[in-house]
Amino acid sequence: MVFENNLSFAKSLDKQDELKLYREKFFFPQHENKNVIYFTGNSLGLQPKNTQHYLQQELDDWGKYGVEGHFLAKNPWLSYHELLTNKMAKIVGALPEETVMMNQLTVNLHLLLVSFYRPTKNRYKILCESKAFPSDQYALQSQLKFHGFNPDEALIEIEPRPGEYHIREEDIYKTIEDNKNTLALIMIGGVNYFTGQVFDMKSITQAGHNVGAIVGFDLAHAAGNLQLELHNWDVDFAVWCSYKYLNSGPGGVAGAFVHEKHLKNTTIPQFAGWWGHDKETRFLMDSKFMPIQTAERWQLSNAPVLSMAACRASLDIFDELGMPALDKKSKLLTAYLEFIIDEINVEKNNCLQIITPKNNRGCQLSIVAHGYGKSLYNQLIESGVIPDWREPNVIRCAPVPLYNSFEDIFRFGEILKKILN
Ligand SMILES: *Cc1c(COP(=O)(O)O)cnc(C)c1O
Repeated sequence: MVFENNLSFAKSLDKQDELKLYREKFFFPQHENKNVIYFTGNSLGLQPKNTQHYLQQELDDWGKYGVEGHFLAKNPWLSYHELLTNKMAKIVGALPEETVMMNQLTVNLHLLLVSFYRPTKNRYKILCESKAFPSDQYALQSQLKFHGFNPDEALIEIEPRPGEYHIREEDIYKTIEDNKNTLALIMIGGVNYFTGQVFDMKSITQAGHNVGAIVGFDLAHAAGNLQLELHNWDVDFAVWCSYKYLNSGPGGVAGAFVHEKHLKNTTIPQFAGWWGHDKETRFLMDSKFMPIQTAERWQLSNAPVLSMAACRASLDIFDELGMPALDKKSKLLTAYLEFIIDEINVEKNNCLQIITPKNNRGCQLSIVAHGYGKSLYNQLIESGVIPDWREPNVIRCAPVPLYNSFEDIFRFGEILKKILN
């Protein structure tokens, strides 16, 4: 498509947008009585207007039934988490039995590392991307130490080449090959939170399996952003949060995936709790743990129903739409943002460098503003734009197909130009 940098063109794209009505389903923070230009759905998704109704239902039933709400609530709490499973599974390309919503992301990462990082004397190394999200780095380092290894030696971090911003996939495959006898686990963010680089999860999984390693992904920036096929790609395990692209609210309940092939393997060690116990006999309160033969096996505690109610509100929207429709709009929106940035660069001496790889990205663009500091971000905020700022000079913008418009992007360009002038 040939883009134009003017308001009527942006409006015409919005008019043709099949998802345009979904914008109305979300609350936007206000700036001078207008919706802000919200580009931080990759950090905290906006609140669906319906969320309060989902929460109110559970509050009402709690008020009405007390403890009996576990059975008598309209959506009985005993099995409440099951209401999320099918919809979540569809979003990440998993079978329902491979998917469970529980805890929070870093907790789930630790729980699945307990099961899937099982080092031996010779095969103990973990491979991840450099500058992974800090929580992932801490989780991996602490797991290594827990097993008696030195992270400085046992954690391999693949870096971009000098002078480059993102990691070349060929370097990943070479590192896997170079460590083929010592590599126990590959654990990479499916989308790097800083650069927005998307990794080829299918090929990395295959390359890992070829040398005998287990492969897991952190999908915090991928779930609800990209079309995923965790089952078909043969990924061993994955974890993600739901408060970014999945709009479940601050600290919302997280997701976990374990491939079907591992579900019935009772030799896999795990940390256990009563909610992972066979449902038929759970309330016999027997002392012997009998794992459920689905991903629910990794559940520890009974489900956080209020948090899950908020998550359901958003998953129902995703279910109605489907990832293919979102993906289609996402590509066009992000391409339009790229076009607008390129237009500004023509006038402003290429001061804005997009470091997100053109052919491996979701909706996020990470932009280095050469010669500018945090005051640029502050001025954007004062002008009614909410992007995200990473020191020293990176602006991350995530136009989210569910609720961002082409007009948002045009207006962002106008504001940015004015500030740079
Ligand atoms: C957002 C994010 C987290 C946050 O972890 P929580 O346990 O949800 O606080 C972890 N890892 C990555 C890659 C993230 O993007």
